Amino acid sequence: MPDHVSSIPLPAELLPSDGRFGSGPSKVRTEAVRRLADAAPAYLGTSHRRDGVRSVVGRVRRGLSDLFGLPDGYEVLLGNGGTTAFWDAAIFSLIDQRSEHLAFGEFSSKFADAARAAPHLDDPVVIESEPGTHPQPVVDDSVDLYALTQNETSTGVTMPVRRPDGATGALMAVDATSAAGGIPVDPTQFDVYYFAPQKCFGGDGGLWLACCSPAAVERISTIKGSGRWSPPSLDLTIALENSRLDQTYNTPALATLFLLADQVEWMLGNGGLEWTAARCEQSAAQLYGWAEASDYAAPFVADPLMRSPVTATVDLAESISADSISAALRENGIVDTESYRKLGRNQLRIAMFPNIEPDDVARLTAAIDYIVERLPD
Ligand SMILES: *Cc1c(COP(=O)(O)O)cnc(C)c1O
Repeated sequence: MPDHVSSIPLPAELLPSDGRFGSGPSKVRTEAVRRLADAAPAYLGTSHRRDGVRSVVGRVRRGLSDLFGLPDGYEVLLGNGGTTAFWDAAIFSLIDQRSEHLAFGEFSSKFADAARAAPHLDDPVVIESEPGTHPQPVVDDSVDLYALTQNETSTGVTMPVRRPDGATGALMAVDATSAAGGIPVDPTQFDVYYFAPQKCFGGDGGLWLACCSPAAVERISTIKGSGRWSPPSLDLTIALENSRLDQTYNTPALATLFLLADQVEWMLGNGGLEWTAARCEQSAAQLYGWAEASDYAAPFVADPLMRSPVTATVDLAESISADSISAALRENGIVDTESYRKLGRNQLRIAMFPNIEPDDVARLTAAIDYIVERLPD
């Protein structure tokens, strides 16, 4: 133990049943890992072009379609490289000339920066707002893709997924990496809803998934037809062909696919998105309720409508070090409550994804109070 933090052992009744509160990679259900271990001898280490693995990809694609209630004609695409690789694929296969980005944190800004750096695209329109808030899209006739982020994981801000009035002909592309599976969404309001499995889906990283409308599929093929060059691994026409065959262009992580299929079926079996969203809301009510009532903590996001139900950010009074609290929690096996570094605030960030038990969130807040009372001055 480092000697600058004194150990504060938590009493057993304040210990959550599971100590993982990280915003990604996030808590993976132990039952899913057990099922993977059981399936492993006939599954791990087998060809991703054979039925064993392709049936798992098929379960993922059908399961996601059910979970989001995708209308006829929408397709689920997948590929390797996580959300960050999907941004690059979007730059080659989805943005025709010019995109508009709402940039209000680390992740939403990264996609905007990548689009700005692309030599084959016009400079994007980038609308920013202060951390802890989100901007509104502004309709612009020169824009052919609007890039929204449903949950900005770095700041704990959520925003509605809604087509702006008058944005006809443009695609709505939504980064739902930390929102998908935990926050409701109306699929008629997006053309591309993309994410990775290591947040609400409580799986492992390295994969991207994208629910695409017929307009998005058409855009992918129109851009290809225009003769634009794309690296094959980022070419969404290739991803589309492979996804339709329940496979990926190159070798995927088979464990990641298995955990995702298991998770999607767990969500559906319990009532789908309505159930997961209610569970996240319940955790969020606990956590923000505690922060508002506390005399040393407060929600970072001032507007309750913008407060994320899946990743909460809580500011602490200056006299109380968030780092010391996170360190004391970590000694008790409660991990990853540290704030997003680049935000640079005296803050805790706590994930409330569907896998996290609302009762565990209640225990966590009681544990924080217990530690604060005992922190040395
Ligand atoms: C985690 C996250 C990403 C990055 O995902 P990778 O799979 O690591 O590339 C992008 N956007 C949001 C909103 C995220 O939460």
